[in-house]
Amino acid sequence: MTERARAQIDLDALRANVSILHEAAPTAALLAVVKADAYGHGLVECSKAAVSAGASYLGVALAQEAIALRQASITTPILAWLLQTDSVDEWVELVLADVEVSVSSVRGLQKAIEAATQTGTTARIHLKVDTGMGRAGASLQAWEGLLRDSAQAVAEQSIEVVGVWTHLAFADQPENPIVEHQLEVFHQALGQAESLGIKPALRHVANSAATFKTPKAHFDMVRPGIAVYGLSPGVGVGTSQELGIRPVMTFSANVIQVKELPAGHGVSYGHEYVTTTDTSVALLPVGYADGVPLAGSNVGPIFIGSRARTIAGRVCMDQVVVDIGTDQVVEGDEAIFFGPGDSGEPTADDWASAANTIGYEIVTRIGPRVPRIFSGGGT
Ligand SMILES: *Cc1c(COP(=O)(O)O)cnc(C)c1O
Repeated sequence: MTERARAQIDLDALRANVSILHEAAPTAALLAVVKADAYGHGLVECSKAAVSAGASYLGVALAQEAIALRQASITTPILAWLLQTDSVDEWVELVLADVEVSVSSVRGLQKAIEAATQTGTTARIHLKVDTGMGRAGASLQAWEGLLRDSAQAVAEQSIEVVGVWTHLAFADQPENPIVEHQLEVFHQALGQAESLGIKPALRHVANSAATFKTPKAHFDMVRPGIAVYGLSPGVGVGTSQELGIRPVMTFSANVIQVKELPAGHGVSYGHEYVTTTDTSVALLPVGYADGVPLAGSNVGPIFIGSRARTIAGRVCMDQVVVDIGTDQVVEGDEAIFFGPGDSGEPTADDWASAANTIGYEIVTRIGPRVPRIFSGGGT
């Protein structure tokens, strides 16, 4: 491995995870969420692998992400859900690229209709209702009006309502009564749609957590993200191991310097770590500019010299230091920040608990300076 650092992406693991998710929701179609560069894993490669494992839809947040998929000649249905409502440009681009769009407001609906008119086609939309998340989606007060306007646009053939959907605020706490409440509200919202003649083929609710833990939320399609990449959706859902999924990303760097330091020597900015004995330290050329959390200072786990160690002192922009004691480590040796965990290395979820964050953030923040190296292509 001659690069400074790398994120190895195990596409076989990704495909196996998609299969596990399919088994968890066998009657539903599967939309693999690939927003944010497939949670930092590489948009195009991961999308192809997910589709080859049975995902029949891909889900992204931004228009540019959907367009990147089409430019890579991926023809799978795509849903994009965070579009600008102050301009029609993205909507036109997406409709032309045969991308389905989420609509949460009358303003968004108008953009979809305008895009359909401009392009002489029908916009395929998914109406989103806020059943309690308090984030994207039409509020319950606005839902009826959005449905009426949508029904009219359907009659005029400028739109087709492919889906009606919502998102759960507590899917990672399956026993929380708000889960049940949101599902009841969703059923009511579907009833209102139906009474106005809107019967979507795809009703969808479930993220990774609900795919595993809330069968009542499966409906016609599930939308897992984090579990596709083998990380736990949350402690209330179970560890990767318990869920039978496998982390896809291994993030590692090569030692570029090993040197001895005497007892009582401070390490890195502010000397937040001080050696307790005469020892050796190893320098790794990655830091917070690569996505290593600053909050991993003095607590971030790392596998080096065949054993688990902890980062010594503050994480810098481009470097971290590890106290390796008397271990035999030489320049060029590989140090693993996180991986699947089966050779004793930490996982991204271990990093998340050490740095007081979530696995989602650990993997998505691995930066563009770090090359993604794919194995197990076979798409
Ligand atoms: C990100 C996202 C998902 C996937 O959630 P995970 O917890 O990663 O499974 C599903 N639906 C929507 C709307 C999202 O934004």
